[in-house]
Amino acid sequence: MAVTQQLYQFVIDGREAGAVSGRTATVTNPATGEGVASVPVADEQDVQRAVMAARRAFDEGPWPRMPASERGRVLMRIAHLLRERVESLARAEVQHSGKPIRDARAEVLAAAECFEYYAGAATKWLGETIPVTDRGLDFTLREPIGVVGLIVPWNFPLMIASWKVAPALAVGNTAVLKPSSATPLTALALGTIALEAGVPAGVLNVITGPGTIAGMALVRDPGVGKIAFTGETTTGMEIMKAAADTMTRISLELGGKSPNVIFADADLARAIPGAAGAVFGNAGQDCCARSRVFIERSIYDRAVATLVEEARKLRTGDPLEEETQIGSLISRSHRDRVRGYVELGAQEGAEVLCGGRPPDDPALARGAYLLPAVLGRVGNAMRVAQEEIFGPVACAIPFTDEAEVVRMANDSPYGLSGSIWTRDIGRALRIARAIRSGVLSVNSSHSVHQEAPFGGMKMSGFGRELGMHALESYTEVKNVFIGE
Ligand code: NDP
Repeated sequence: MAVTQQLYQFVIDGREAGAVSGRTATVTNPATGEGVASVPVADEQDVQRAVMAARRAFDEGPWPRMPASERGRVLMRIAHLLRERVESLARAEVQHSGKPIRDARAEVLAAAECFEYYAGAATKWLGETIPVTDRGLDFTLREPIGVVGLIVPWNFPLMIASWKVAPALAVGNTAVLKPSSATPLTALALGTIALEAGVPAGVLNVITGPGTIAGMALVRDPGVGKIAFTGETTTGMEIMKAAADTMTRISLELGGKSPNVIFADADLARAIPGAAGAVFGNAGQDCCARSRVFIERSIYDRAVATLVEEARKLRTGDPLEEETQIGSLISRSHRDRVRGYVELGAQEGAEVLCGGRPPDDPALARGAYLLPAVLGRVGNAMRVAQEEIFGPVACAIPFTDEAEVVRMANDSPYGLSGSIWTRDIGRALRIARAIRSGVLSVNSSHSVHQEAPFGGMKMSGFGRELGMHALESYTEVKNVFIGE
């Protein structure tokens, strides 16, 4: 039976619009292989239109000039609408990403929380008064940058878009949002919700189109003052080079290969399920995935056996079923790439202890499913331990002592996230200080909190999202001195 495809449009200058070229693309449900929606495909002309609308809204419109409290009220209305429409948005998120419906609902609610947080933060972003030597008063103003370009990936489409849109708008910027071509539906829906909530025309524009064309045109557009990007490290590097030509500010949230360090004295009843959740959540398509599980040698065999049990317990299946914990990966080609890594691990000498192959259920044959894999006896120098796999693959690596595990944890080009499991608080603190990553958790797998800074070190990028820190990267500091 043919599936009816819903037609989506760009949101530019307060109106829905198609591409100047008239081109459209089909959005595919990776869990079924069926087309579920049609979206316009932006080229340079559409990007220019969107940036011009955002520029006008910034230079002439009310948004940057209105009291911060008023902007906050509008952001709060966006949050209400997201909460009201949680079910339809979660279903759209499932349709284009293949993620489990329960996760998708939680992410829509997290997006609403993000707008609520920045609705309140809008009036709490303060300047300083500075006791300079000259007689008079010196103070700083925090000013919006102007038009910001927000480029987001497919793994947490609405949530990561909200992490950028909410703080950018809270401090008075206007924006052009470009979601991934694989998952454009919820970003486009956010554009119309923002209009309904009272965001003035041109303040939030949403366009869809290939990154190399539409994304790059946004980066190169001289009307854009800042690019906030989340995606692959190699794409981040290209953006950084292109942004140099126009001195465009950038913040980059990139890939990861994070460590999960489990000491023999840890509460294993929490640590091992925590370790499984931290690498298999979102089918491993998570920049924070703790895909290198370092386990103290004395408990290695026992802990790995339990990790395998946990992996086998996870229910892989139709993302629309409430019990599903692991849905489809984003595409069959990505699934095959991840599977290739499992095969590479075996060639490198690791043991494939479970998963790493599609499920047997014929009902899932058309999707991009992969059973969660645990690789045992992995060495930290193997490619499977060094490269970001971005799929449900855990590499279990034995270690002997603190010094060795710190050296191995840091022996990675990335530095995004990580966990440490131990009952020894002194050791937890020593290791938390020694590991080079932007966020770390002790006896927890949670590293993302709406109220706290999030971002990477090394090849995981720079700049911080979430919390009050995010506001820094959407503002310029101006110093004003009034002489006596
Ligand atoms: P990509 O880098 O391929 O794409 C991310 C976004 O950038 C998409 O919107 C894409 O558009 C666009 N894009 C692609 N090429 C260019 C370009 N040359 N110029 C401008 N924009 C471009 O990443 P994925 O979507 O594959 O996402 C997975 C990656 O994201 C992983 O490496 C993961 O670790 C990282 N990530 C990092 C996070 C963090 O906070 N550190 C969080 C989540 C993911 P299109 O898809 O339409 O081509």
